[in-house]
This record gives sequence, structure tokens and C-alpha cells, in this order.
Amino acid sequence: MIPTLNGELSAEALGTTLMHEHIFVLNAELMLNYPGRFPSQELVERAVGYLEQVKAGGVDSIVDLTVMGTGRNIPLVKQVAERSAVNIIGATGWYTFHDAPSFATLNGPGRLLGGEDLLAQMFIRDIREGIDDTGVKAGVLKFATDHYGFSDGVKIIMQAVADAHLETGAPVFTHSDPSRRNGLEQQDYLASRGVDLAGVVIGHCGDSDDLDYLKEVADRGSVLGMDRFGMDSKLPFAQRLSTVARLCKDGYAAQVVISTDSSAYSMNFPDEARAARLPRWKATEIMDNVVPGLRELGVPEADITQMLISNPRRILGDAQ
Ligand SMILES: [Zn+2]
Repeated sequence: MIPTLNGELSAEALGTTLMHEHIFVLNAELMLNYPGRFPSQELVERAVGYLEQVKAGGVDSIVDLTVMGTGRNIPLVKQVAERSAVNIIGATGWYTFHDAPSFATLNGPGRLLGGEDLLAQMFIRDIREGIDDTGVKAGVLKFATDHYGFSDGVKIIMQAVADAHLETGAPVFTHSDPSRRNGLEQQDYLASRGVDLAGVVIGHCGDSDDLDYLKEVADRGSVLGMDRFGMDSKLPFAQRLSTVARLCKDGYAAQVVISTDSSAYSMNFPDEARAARLPRWKATEIMDNVVPGLRELGVPEADITQMLISNPRRILGDAQ
């Protein structure tokens, strides 16, 4: 069974699934210190309305890849989930490009204060028993590498994520930067730890139309996250679309998932900025424009089903 914020779900019941979305992208310190400025009840109402639109478009499930470091707030998302028909799969991990949280740099095997790896313990508990006392289990793991590469802090996170994966089998999702071709480095690290790359989704591959790179990542077994539709600033829609169509034509549909990496609300991207710069960056974009666009480019229905239903079912269901 697949754990969701609305209860457990069989893999068959996932339906059309977006594999990299967010309900909220927050800053936990700001939320704690300025509740008047960021009223949580308004955010919940807004997210409920957002998901109604997503569901009306034909999406049944989303993976919410908000982890610690981007303001994961399970009690808040749970309030949304309880009022939504969309299944929400939660994640654990830590999002940072450089520093690990200080408690993790000081405590752990080989670190100043020694002891157990607290992050790995938390991640494992999130998956096995649940996130604190919320009753919600995380379904997937996540880490990020970007322009700082494998900094000491990032290595601490990657190690804890790999340990938690090896212990639980939960699939690993990454944030990568394909302009640096660093999905390959992520694969090198995970493979060196004994992780089966077939269960790994290399995120943000869709920011690239470098088919040689994308196929190299896929040929090592991983899934390509073509997951930022609507983020035209990084790569325009038409190029994102034709890259997915080409991957399908070349036989890679079983290793592609499509999504938008947008959110119902992000502290980092105020409404005005989003409306002005990225008006189509929302989860409804997949059913509104991406799927019709793929059809226009001649992508067979079987491939669309594969990317939106079968692949998520396999990736999320395998681990359980
Ligand atoms: Zn994301």
C-alpha cells in the first residue's frame, strides 16, 4: 500500500499522478515568527481550491516533494488533504544546495559529537512509523544537488537519504541541474551505495533538451523527471514538449514522468511575480496543455498513460 496524507492507497488506485508537485513551499522560520503575515488558514483554503482545479482537470494523485528545508508542514497539508479528492503522497529528506542543518553536522558517525545519524533515523521513522504524531507516513525520499556540487553538507544529506532508502526501499527523488549534467553524479553516488538506480527519479531533467544527456541518465536505469512544465524561464514550453515527444518516439516512455514542480502557494514566488513571469506554471498545466500538446505531436495514447499512470504506479508501488 502507498501511504498518502489521506490514508493508504493501493498502487492500482493512484490513477493519473503528477510526480513532482508542491502544496506549499514555505520557510518554517518565517511561518513560526510571522503567522500574521502568513496566515495558515488562508493558505489551506487556497490550496483546497487549487486542488479542486487540479482534480477537475483529471489528476488523481500528486507527490508533494516539499521536504525539510522548504518548509514541510505536514499538519497544514493534512488539513488540505482532508478536504481534497486528490491523493497527496508526502516526502521526507532535506533540501539544501550547500549546508546541512547544524545538528546533523555536529552529531553522527565520525562527527564532533558522534552518535547515530539523526537525519537517517528521522527519515526512516517518517517512512516506517509516521512523521512525528501526525499519523502520516512519507512515501518517498528526496535530496538536492546543484551549483555547489557535493559539498560537505550535501554529502551528509545524500548519505542519510541513501541509508534510509536501503533500510526502507522508499524511492529516491532528486533535484538536479541538467545544465551541469549532475544527474550522472547523483547516479554515481547512489550506485556506489548499492542503490538500484531503477527506483530513482532524477528531477528537473525537463530543464534540458540535451537528448544525449537525458538518454545517458535513462540508460543507467533511472527515471527522467520532465517535471517543470510551465517554468518557461528555464526552458520554453515547446522545447520541453518536443523533448518528451522525442523520448517517447525513441522508446523511453517507461522512464519518463511529467509534472510541473509548481505549488498552491510559495513564499519564494509571490503571486504577482508568478502572474507576470510564469502565468502557466501550475499543476493544471499538465492536463490543460501538456497532454493535448503531446497528442498533437503524435505521442501515442499508450505512452501518455505510461508516463502519467503506469510509471508512477511502478515507482511508488515497488517500494511497498
Ligand atoms: Zn520541487
